[in-house]
Amino acid sequence: MGGAGNVALNLVFMGPPGAGKGTQAERFAREHGIPKISTGDILRDEVAAGTALGQQVKALMARGELVGDDLIIAIVKERLKQPDAARGFVLDGFPRTVPQAAALDGMLGDRGPIIVVEISVPDEELVRRVVSRRICSKCGKTVSAFPGDGSATLRCSHCGGELVSRSDDSERVVRDRLKVYWRETQPMIAFYQSRPTYRAVDGAQPPDRVRDDLVKAVAAVLGNPVGDGKHALGSRPEKNA
Ligand code: AMP
Repeated sequence: MGGAGNVALNLVFMGPPGAGKGTQAERFAREHGIPKISTGDILRDEVAAGTALGQQVKALMARGELVGDDLIIAIVKERLKQPDAARGFVLDGFPRTVPQAAALDGMLGDRGPIIVVEISVPDEELVRRVVSRRICSKCGKTVSAFPGDGSATLRCSHCGGELVSRSDDSERVVRDRLKVYWRETQPMIAFYQSRPTYRAVDGAQPPDRVRDDLVKAVAAVLGNPVGDGKHALGSRPEKNA
């Protein structure tokens, strides 16, 4: 087998709702040419399309509860078989329970280890962020619209679509989702924590700092400290400005 450049990047970004893992996962995936796989996005697409699956999960999602392990495991298993995931992926929102994490180990076979990075943020900061989060009704992009930002954030900077609140983003639902997170997902952190491929980063920092720490954490797991100039993980994205 070849060197670090050929190693598949099998990543799990973990963290409570509002930790910024969706944004970071998207950016990391784009910068490294691998797909971001968000189970929340997949389910929201199903709900929006009114499929049988969407109808099955709609009410649960609106209450901030988790959909069943078997269902979500089957969805991810199918998704990881797609050719674009052969060189790796960034999972966002999966696994969320110990059975899901165990199933993911089983899915990977000889694809190499998974690198699990936890993005941690205090609860009160999360509630503040999530309540002010908006999603584009057209392209699905998530943006922050912090109170006081004014009306400039009513349209998506990406496609001009209308920005709306996610139906599961009210404060009460967010607090429920945090409870679910600590109850169901925290035990999964213990499942991964003892592995040499687990890292935690401070998600309360500005997004660029979080991004840099994520890149460093992944590079360190791959045994390739950032700054040695040998691996794409160490380089910043090119800017054409
Ligand atoms: P997210 O966008 O990751 O916050 O997910 C939104 C909602 O989709 C969650 O509150 C759950 O209802 C459901 N969901 C997403 N991923 C999973 C998962 N891995 N296990 C169970 N439910 C999930």
